[in-house]
Amino acid sequence: LDTCALVGAVPSRFPWEGDTVDLDTYFAMARGIQEKDLDGTDEEGAGAQAMEMTKWFDTNYHYIVPEFDADTSFSLSSTAPIDAYTEAKEMGVETRPVLIGPVTFLLLGKAQDDDLEVLDLLDDLLPVYREVLDELADAGCEAVQMDEPVLVLDLDDAERDALTTAYNALGGADVDLHVATYFGALEDNLATALDLNVDGLHLDLDRGAGQLDAALDHGVPDDLQLSLGLVDGRNVWRADLDALYEPVEQAVDALGSDRVAVGPSCSLLHVPVDLNAEPGLDDDVKPWLAFAVQKLDEIVALARRADGDVEGTEATFEKARAAREDRATSDRINNPDVQSRMANVTPEMAERDNPHSQRRPLQRDRMGLPQLPTTTIGSFPQTDDIREMRRQFKSGDISTEEYESFIEKQIADTIAAQEEIGLDVLVHGEPERSDMVEYFGRRMNGFLFTENAWVQSYGTRCVRPPIIAGDVSRPEPMTVRWLSYANDLTDQPVKGMLTGPVTMLQWSFVRDDQSRADTCRQLALAIRDEVEDLEDAGIMAIQIDEPAFREGLPLRESQWDAYLDWAVECFRLASSGVRDETQIHTHMCYSEFNDIFEAIADMDADVISIEASRSKMELLQAFDDFDYPNEIGPGVYDIHSPRVPPVDEMETLIQKALDVLEPGQMWVNPDCGLKTRRWVEVRPALENMVQAAERVRETQAVA
Ligand code: GLN
Ligand code: ZN
Repeated sequence: LDTCALVGAVPSRFPWEGDTVDLDTYFAMARGIQEKDLDGTDEEGAGAQAMEMTKWFDTNYHYIVPEFDADTSFSLSSTAPIDAYTEAKEMGVETRPVLIGPVTFLLLGKAQDDDLEVLDLLDDLLPVYREVLDELADAGCEAVQMDEPVLVLDLDDAERDALTTAYNALGGADVDLHVATYFGALEDNLATALDLNVDGLHLDLDRGAGQLDAALDHGVPDDLQLSLGLVDGRNVWRADLDALYEPVEQAVDALGSDRVAVGPSCSLLHVPVDLNAEPGLDDDVKPWLAFAVQKLDEIVALARRADGDVEGTEATFEKARAAREDRATSDRINNPDVQSRMANVTPEMAERDNPHSQRRPLQRDRMGLPQLPTTTIGSFPQTDDIREMRRQFKSGDISTEEYESFIEKQIADTIAAQEEIGLDVLVHGEPERSDMVEYFGRRMNGFLFTENAWVQSYGTRCVRPPIIAGDVSRPEPMTVRWLSYANDLTDQPVKGMLTGPVTMLQWSFVRDDQSRADTCRQLALAIRDEVEDLEDAGIMAIQIDEPAFREGLPLRESQWDAYLDWAVECFRLASSGVRDETQIHTHMCYSEFNDIFEAIADMDADVISIEASRSKMELLQAFDDFDYPNEIGPGVYDIHSPRVPPVDEMETLIQKALDVLEPGQMWVNPDCGLKTRRWVEVRPALENMVQAAERVRETQAVA
């Protein structure tokens, strides 16, 4: 969004005169403009949809996706980086401004016209970047960092050439240019990167340890400084400084110390700020960890040692050694029961008894489902009341009994509302959960929780990922109490809600002393226990949410299969312990999974609900090529908007889906959970959704 504002890439639907991008335009781009904001009425009218937001590479940070069309032209439209540089300078601090590089900016954007190639815009964009660099130089700036993380992706020749062209053009500016790459190895883009017309190149040696050798083998141009991204910017563990020091020595030997810089692997945006702001962590685990501030100490220690200061850095190195030894033998990490269970996992444990085709009639019969059954994704509005009661409970102002009876009342109200609305498969509404990962993590062994370790997710929003430190297990049931309560309130089927192993892994900081696959298997076994307990408690449908399944996909396609193999296996391990007549659901809140469709089918969930309404069922094109064998609920109600979709609109979406889906395999549901919405929106929207399903059932004349 900042770069869009900088270069004036404001889509034409926003009211903007073409001068400086002011705060209103900036917010409009990120948040959209409600119809009534523009003309002061509630009439349907000239609102403007927010720009798309998506995850930044394989992180949980989100960015606004640039939009380009045939009319896009660029001009310098913000002074933000220059102002920030000057502000720091006036405080006596010489900073190195960081910009998203022009090629990454274009390649992360989306062309709105089919015949537009984003790279065709490069020639128009470069002069604006040049202006920014010139203004920074005029302000006294010495060096600028250009982030080009696309260099760790699969690129074609045209994309590689664009990088060369870009830095040939920008290299003439009166500031030093340092290109930063991160989140992976350069691999086949290494030569392109090393030969760019720039002064410095940053390599992520955490994700791509081997690339220092590769770079030295290839030959580092005489005038290029190498920046070694050694300290893991994506995780919270204290570094193994002895191990990280080896590449520093190697690079200094080869290049001389003035051509080597030491840094974190990537931006420290992705880790919490300061371990010392964490009163809640026990003293025995604190030394195992390093947040951003501590990582800076590690970086400084590596650099000082390379400058010959062994004595002054030894204490920091020694702490790192002690922490690793302590962690390796701690009871908090090692649980022999979990380890022996892991050793006894068999392939059969990841198989249902019979194929879905045999399970479907059993499940539908048992649950008494009509064609096109209606359901929701799990959460219902998290009202101010719920938040307030949770706060009071946490701070000890109300007792456990008071809190639990409040939650029961919420569940009872939610069940009653769903019965009134006429939904087929009900949920308990998740009022007891503030966060779908935290709730489960807190009930499992092996996790650490922080109080202040926030990490920015986007704009003004932060998340506080738990830390998986040790072997994971589930000491006792986590959801059965609430699900049984809900189940007893109604004759209709109630669907239990769990967070899946891949999502638990993906949205946590993960231990670095065993493979992610093994940590995920431990999570899967813990969730499997819960699934079986829910089944025993009479719950007929169990949803295992995997909204983070796709974002776990490696950045390089060559590594996809390895990930998908264990990720699918873990989902199956979590979900396959049940009888045929127990219906397993999963949910993913995005629609771009055409390229992993077969893996999704391999997960063998009986029902999957997915996002689809915003893209107007675009995802269904994929069903032309691939017959999805199980049941599927493409979302017909976009819950990200307060708007109540009318019956016709949802009816049309259902009809559209039925062009490619069998009526017997289709479900009707919203795109995602309803927790961010208000009851006044949710109730009419779901009533309309149920009515739309009824209308289609009638017109289809399906039994
Ligand atoms: N069951 C969760 C909910 O409804 C799913 C959330 C998600 O997809 N991120 O809130
Ligand atoms: Zn979702």
